[in-house]
Amino acid sequence: MAVIPSSSEALFELCGFARVACEADLVMALEVDDAGRASPVASSPPQGFSSFNLSRSGLFDTAWSSIPVAANAFRLPTAVVHALPDMPASLLFVPAPAQHAPKSGLLLLWTQPPSPAPLVEYVRLLASSIASTLAARREAARQVAMRDQFNDLLESVPSGIVLFDGDGQSAMINERAAELLTCRAGPHRASDLADPMRALRERCDNHADLEAAYAAQVGNVHYAAIQHWVLGDRTYEVDTHPVSGDGQHGRIWLFTDVTAELRIAARLRGLAQSDPLTGLPNRRHFEEQSSQILTAAAAAERAVALLMVDVDHFKQINDTHGHPVGDAVLKAVARRCNDVLRDGDLFARFGGEEFIALLTITTEQEAAVIAERLRSAIGGTPVLIGQLGITVSASVGVATMKTTTAIDSDILESLVQRADAALYRAKQSGRNRVIIA
Ligand code: GH3
Ligand code: MG
Ligand code: MG
Repeated sequence: MAVIPSSSEALFELCGFARVACEADLVMALEVDDAGRASPVASSPPQGFSSFNLSRSGLFDTAWSSIPVAANAFRLPTAVVHALPDMPASLLFVPAPAQHAPKSGLLLLWTQPPSPAPLVEYVRLLASSIASTLAARREAARQVAMRDQFNDLLESVPSGIVLFDGDGQSAMINERAAELLTCRAGPHRASDLADPMRALRERCDNHADLEAAYAAQVGNVHYAAIQHWVLGDRTYEVDTHPVSGDGQHGRIWLFTDVTAELRIAARLRGLAQSDPLTGLPNRRHFEEQSSQILTAAAAAERAVALLMVDVDHFKQINDTHGHPVGDAVLKAVARRCNDVLRDGDLFARFGGEEFIALLTITTEQEAAVIAERLRSAIGGTPVLIGQLGITVSASVGVATMKTTTAIDSDILESLVQRADAALYRAKQSGRNRVIIA
């Protein structure tokens, strides 16, 4: 295989060739911008030069032919002069204007005036090669800079990125994606990433759902979706969509760890749904949840019961023992009720010292039994708070409804109204009792 020299090597070879052909003592390829700032790109013999300014050197005010001229007519940078064994006697500049550096060229120096070497003339023919090599060198540098920028971008995004090129052959992954897929970051053959991607998906707790979602889209190049990939205690939001490229297969997969956000959201949802004192569902959450119970009961052709529980003379407890003791009593009442109720029953704090329960039942009798259990659980033994034993009782109003097929929001409202009316009668008839509507 032929070794293609890099653009800098090519310029070193050009300088070397020019030095031998012209019997020069020093040849430099200079990349020079419009303002005369020169970067020596290569030289023969090879030397390390830093940049210098040639704007007042006189090099650019001369109409150059292939004939070397006396060096003392020019102001050369000391670095260049010192690179020679003696003071320069003659020089020749071969302009090689490149678009980005229009004053570029090849500088040849002799310490003795050269005896006319016929090949000097040919060196001028190298001008276009020098110019195009300088342009290629600049383009290569630009590509490297662009690739570096792209890589910086790829690594600065707080997501794992898997990027498939449009040709369907090549792919690129960043560090974060590499960690997830347990392979190395950087370019890959597209086909080599299929297995790690599948393995990661299969490790997900919800992989059956994911398989179903993605299987339905096999072959659809326009497929775009956001799915949650659940991996143990971490959840990744995985966004995939097509990206434009040279071909139809360009696609990006973005893996963003959303565990913290989901935890915060769940916590906020919990706070919005529960009563801070007792930890029970609050009234709003009760209303949301009740429709599920009513729908399920209708589907199973089961009856439901709604129980309103109100602590008797609770104001007196507050007045006698203070609000904090009142709070502790409410918590105890909530706990006692929860202990009596079954897993599928919905129990909530309706407000103040009032609680509400919605249950599926088989007979009306069953509702009466549960209501009675609640009443006696609340009032069975005094609630102990520190040294205090507080006697508590509650009244319960019950409303039941036989199975219905039509579920609407009025059903809950009418159940609440009827249970409330029954509760009122329980209060009126002496408290600490259950009344069925
Ligand atoms: P009744 O037997 O007729 O139900 O009498 P009651 O005293 O229980 O009823 P009332 O509605 O007159 O008083 C309820 C009291 O409950 C008034 C209110 O200050 C108190 N209360 C409501 N919410 C809380 C709470 O979160 N903590 C405490 N400690 N008291 C509360
Ligand atoms: Mg009360
Ligand atoms: Mg009340």
